Amino acid sequence: MHGLPVNMKYEAVIGLEVHAQMLTESKMFCGCSARFGAEPNSQTCEICIGMPGVLPVMNKKALEFTIRTGLAMNCTISAYSRFARKNYFYPDLPKGYQISQYELPICGHGHVDVIAGGRKRRIGITRIHMEEDAGKNIHEGRGNYSFVDLNRAGVPLMEIVSEPDIRTPVEASEYMRKLRTILRYLGVCDGNMEQGSLRCDANVSVRPEGRRELGVKVEMKNINSFRYVEKALEYEIGRQIKALQEGEKIVQETRLWDPATATTQSMRSKEEAHDYRYFPEPDLVPIMAHCKWIDAVKDGLPELPDAKRERFVSGYELPEYDADLLTSERAMADWFEGAIRAGAGPKAAANWMMGELMRFLNEENKTIEGCPLKPSQLAEMIKLIDKGTISGKIAKTVFEEMYRTGKDAETVVKEKGLVQISDSGAIEKAVDEAIAGNPKEVERFKAGDEKLIGFFVGQVMKATKGKANPQMVNELLKKKLGG
Ligand code: ADP
Ligand code: ZN
Ligand code: MG
Repeated sequence: MHGLPVNMKYEAVIGLEVHAQMLTESKMFCGCSARFGAEPNSQTCEICIGMPGVLPVMNKKALEFTIRTGLAMNCTISAYSRFARKNYFYPDLPKGYQISQYELPICGHGHVDVIAGGRKRRIGITRIHMEEDAGKNIHEGRGNYSFVDLNRAGVPLMEIVSEPDIRTPVEASEYMRKLRTILRYLGVCDGNMEQGSLRCDANVSVRPEGRRELGVKVEMKNINSFRYVEKALEYEIGRQIKALQEGEKIVQETRLWDPATATTQSMRSKEEAHDYRYFPEPDLVPIMAHCKWIDAVKDGLPELPDAKRERFVSGYELPEYDADLLTSERAMADWFEGAIRAGAGPKAAANWMMGELMRFLNEENKTIEGCPLKPSQLAEMIKLIDKGTISGKIAKTVFEEMYRTGKDAETVVKEKGLVQISDSGAIEKAVDEAIAGNPKEVERFKAGDEKLIGFFVGQVMKATKGKANPQMVNELLKKKLGG
């Protein structure tokens, strides 16, 4: 068989299935704690370890969280929904089936918008359903034995399934970031990918550009970071295009992403795929979410990232970039608005947050929640700059000292004697000295080398330990040098 022409252009088609662990106190169908990190098998009971004769009871909070998410992602909430059994056998699933949803999921027909490569793209959400997580098999470091930790068995999960609307690896990771941001805004999932509370299976196929029918898809499992979503997709798209060019057929299969080699390996083909034999879960009644309740859940939604971002652009006149960054976490946006309320100018507050503050937080691996400064402290410091009490340059020293000690700007300025010199007599003296001490540079300046103004400013700043008001220094120098 001939391969397709080597110069043919291909397009990738991607759909993601994202699992999000819900931040409920208890598990999906029993009262056990759903918290992460406890002693293995300490958070289990007859229900979540699958003893015969027990009955599950739905966690109403999990339903509410899923509806919140559905509403935030523009979904329709089903008036009638139900659970289904998904049958398969694996040691981390002691019942022999997972309770999930199949033909009647709670949410469907939604979308989220993402910006990738400067373009806005709308990604359809096929469905969001509830299910229970499985336990964890532990194979490493135990000799010939494998162990099972069932603390995670029964923890509430949401599965968010996208339409095959994604076209590039970057779009896929941006989509995932967007889901994480929304989930965290809603407080329904902590989005911790390292601990596995947010993970994704990526489906991908390729087709010649312009063709409408979808190619044969491959599903990749085990992706737990934004970077890996991109890497895995890049690898897989390359592999599929190469195969087609060499005249091979793509087989529908499940492949495992291996971060160590940055490749995917075949796990099972369509023929070996599980037959899950889904059927309605007989131990749980169908869900009929009352529309009054759904309306109440809707009324309780916070301002969502897109709306907040737009408001930051139009209301505070921030550049898109700043607004994007500051609204990527709700706590960050709140901190920013706290500084504004305390009297900081929006652009100045944004600059200090995106620059110094984030740098210091990152250095210590801290998030804004762990920030040692209060928004009002930043605002007070910015006011000192606005009033001319300190220069923007000195402010960096002040900010660092505030950050390290938690002291207010005014205290730091007083203690360290950092008040800006705006006394024209003192500045004039330093300017005169700089001119008198550097006759060669004065000559060159007068001969037309105007860049040397920077040199003189530097001299004056050095003499005043950076405390001279830069604007006054500039003006005086120009006057005296005749620039
Ligand atoms: P399955 O029956 O294998 O679970 P689904 O139709 O339920 O497949 O789709 C699962 C995911 O795969 C969805 O996110 C969907 O958008 C995506 N998908 C479906 N078909 C394709 C395809 N041909 N190429 C890429 N992604 C696809
Ligand atoms: Zn339990
Ligand atoms: Mg499916």
